[in-house]
Amino acid sequence: MKGIKNIGILAHVDAGKTTITENFLYLSNAIKSMGSVDQGSSVTDSMALEKERGISIKSASVSFNWIDYTINLIDTPGHTDFSAEVERALAVLDGVILVVSAAEGVQSHTITLWDGIKQAGIPCIFFINKIDRAGADFSNVLNQIDKELNAPVFPLYFPQNEGENNASPVFLFGNETLDSSSGRFREIALETLAEKDEEILDLYLEGKNISQDLLFEKLVQLTHKQQIIPLYCGVAKFSEGMVDLLDGVVNMLPNAANNSAAELGALVFKLEHDKTLGKLAHVRLFSGKIKSRDLIVNHTQQKEEKIAQIKKVLTGKMIDANELLAGDIGIVSGLQNARAGDVLGNPVLVPKLTQLQKPVITVHVKAKNDQQYADLAQALSILNMEDPLLGFKWFKDDRELHLNLMGTVQIEVLESILEQRFSIQAEFSDPTVIFKETPAGIAEGYIEYTMPKPCWAVMRFQIEPGETGSGIVYQSEVGVNNIFRKYQNEIENTVPKSLEQGIKGWDVTDIKITLIAGEDHEIHSRPGDFILATPMGILRALENAGTKLLEPVYKFDIKAPEEFLGAIASDLTKMRGTFKSPEFENEYVIIKGILPIATSLKYNIRLSSLTGGKGRLRKQFGGYQPCEDKHGQTREFKGVSPLNTSQWILHKRGAFKADERKF
Ligand code: GDP
Repeated sequence: MKGIKNIGILAHVDAGKTTITENFLYLSNAIKSMGSVDQGSSVTDSMALEKERGISIKSASVSFNWIDYTINLIDTPGHTDFSAEVERALAVLDGVILVVSAAEGVQSHTITLWDGIKQAGIPCIFFINKIDRAGADFSNVLNQIDKELNAPVFPLYFPQNEGENNASPVFLFGNETLDSSSGRFREIALETLAEKDEEILDLYLEGKNISQDLLFEKLVQLTHKQQIIPLYCGVAKFSEGMVDLLDGVVNMLPNAANNSAAELGALVFKLEHDKTLGKLAHVRLFSGKIKSRDLIVNHTQQKEEKIAQIKKVLTGKMIDANELLAGDIGIVSGLQNARAGDVLGNPVLVPKLTQLQKPVITVHVKAKNDQQYADLAQALSILNMEDPLLGFKWFKDDRELHLNLMGTVQIEVLESILEQRFSIQAEFSDPTVIFKETPAGIAEGYIEYTMPKPCWAVMRFQIEPGETGSGIVYQSEVGVNNIFRKYQNEIENTVPKSLEQGIKGWDVTDIKITLIAGEDHEIHSRPGDFILATPMGILRALENAGTKLLEPVYKFDIKAPEEFLGAIASDLTKMRGTFKSPEFENEYVIIKGILPIATSLKYNIRLSSLTGGKGRLRKQFGGYQPCEDKHGQTREFKGVSPLNTSQWILHKRGAFKADERKF
C-alpha cells in the first residue's frame, strides 16, 4: 500500500451519497453484491453491528482499497442541524467529494458545506450526480457553482444523453473532437486553469497544444492547494462514472501524512457509548502512534488516560488492532474523560475545528414521567459528551435541564434517541432563540473583597463594547507588583466564566475588559479570592454600563414566482427582515437579505403554502446583530448571582451548594 486517504463525501440530503458509497464498496470488492437504498439493502444503511448495538459505526467510517491506497471513507450527516458532526469530520479529512444533484442543483446546505470546506482548507472534487434525471441541467449547475459558490471548477467530464435513462459521463480531454456545447465546457476548464497558472495561461493565449501530462500535473498541484476543483459527473444509481470518480479520489486528492515516529497528535472526531465496550472514541491520528495500554494525554480535558483496546472498522466489522499509526483512523476504548472534539497529545499537530453553524435556539427538556428526571439528566450528560455543542446545563435548584440546538429537526431526533436508547419519554419546551448581550457603554466595576477574613482581592475593571464578532478581549494594566502574576492568571481564566450570564441572563460577547487597578495582600490573598471576586467586579461593571441585546440572524435568499413579490415583501417586513432590491429571472423573483431567526424559524412552511410549493427559502446562520429589548427576551439569572454579594460569597466558599455546575 502506498498510503492512506481519509475522504469525506459531503452532500445535501438525497443527492446520492449512500448510493455512491455502495458503489465504491462494491467496485473495490469490499462487498460481494450491491444493495440499493430504495430496497433498504445497502450495506452502509443496514449493518448488523449497528442494528445490534444501536450505534452508528457506519456513520463514522468504512475502509476499502483502491489502486494501492487505503481509503477511509468518513460519513457525514446531510442535515444542517447536524453541522457540528460535519465540522468534526472536516477536521479529519485529507480530501472531500462534494456531491450536487444535476436536477436539484446547489442547495443552501451545499453552500454551508462549501463554506466549511473552504475554511478548513481541504482539497476537494465535485461530483454532479443524477445526470439521468428529468430536469437535469449540467450547464445550469455549473453556472450556479460559479455564481453561488464562487468555486473554481475544472470540468473533466460532461453528460451525454442528459436527462435520459442512458445518460453517461464523457471525458472532455480525450482525443475525440467535441461539438460546440461540450467544447465550451472544455474552454471553461482551461480558462479556470489558465487564471491560476502562468505557464498554462501563456500556452492558452498563444493557442498552443497543452499536453495531457502537463494539464494533469498542474491540476493535481492546484487541487492540493485548494485553488482548483476537478469536476466529475455521472449516475450513481446505474454505476455510471463511479470508477472515474474513484480514480479521481486517488489521483487528485492528497495522502495522509505518515510521520508515525513523531509526537502524538490526534483528534476525537466522534464519541459513542457501547453496551459492552463502554465509551468508544473515534480518533484520527495526525502524527505519532498509539498502542493498547499506552498512557496518553487528553489535552482538552487536561487528563492523562490509558488506552484500553484499539479497533478498526472494515466494511461494517470491527476488527482488533494493536496499534494505530499516523494518518489512520480507528476506534479506541478506555478514554473515560473524552468528549467529541478533544485533542489527544500535542494540539499544534492537530488542525483546528471550523464552525459552520452555531446553536441558535435553546430548550428545556422534561421527563414525561417525573421519576425519570435523574435518568434524563444522566442521559443528556452522555449525549453532551458526544456533542458538546448541546451545551447541556443542569440547574439543580430549579430542576431544569437546558440544551442548545441548531434547529427544530434536532428536537425530533433527540426525542427518538432518548426513547430508543435510554427508554425515556421526554418533552421539549417551545424553543427560544439564544440571545446574547453586549455592554451599552463604557463603565467601571470595583470590588474590594477583604471580608470576612481571611481573604484579600481588590480589583477595578473597565468594560467597553467591542467590535461586532470580536468576542471577549481581556487585558491587564496592573503590574505584577500590585497583583502577583499567579493571581493575574486566575483573573484572566475566570473572565469567560463570569460572562456566561450577563444582567439580562445571556452570554456576554463583543466586550473589551481591562483590569485598570487592584492589589493583593502578601499574607491574606489566595488564588481562590480572585476567582471568587472577579465575577463580582465584572458584573458590577456590566450593571453600571447596562447591556444591549444581540439576536442571531439568518442570511437568506428566496426564489418564488413573480406574482408573490408583494406578499413576500410584506411577510419579510413583519418579520423585521431587511433585503436588497429584488432581482428578476424569467418569471421568478429573487430576494436576498437578513432575517432574525426568532421571527423566521418556520417561514419555509408559510412560504411553501403561500406559493403552492413553488417558492423556496435558503438560509444560513448570519451572525448576531443588535435587537431592541421589546423584540428580545431576558432570562432570570440561574443560580446565585455574583451581584448578590453575601449569598455569592457564602455559596462560593461552599457554605451551601447551589447550582454547582455554573461556577
Ligand atoms: P443520500 O441521501 O445522499 O445518501 O442519497 P441516496 O443515495 O440515499 O439516494 C437518494 C435517492 O436518489 C434514492 O432514491 C436513490 O435511488 C436516488 N439516486 C441516487 N443516485 C441517483 C442517480 O444517479 N440518478 C437517479 N435518478 N437517482 C439516483
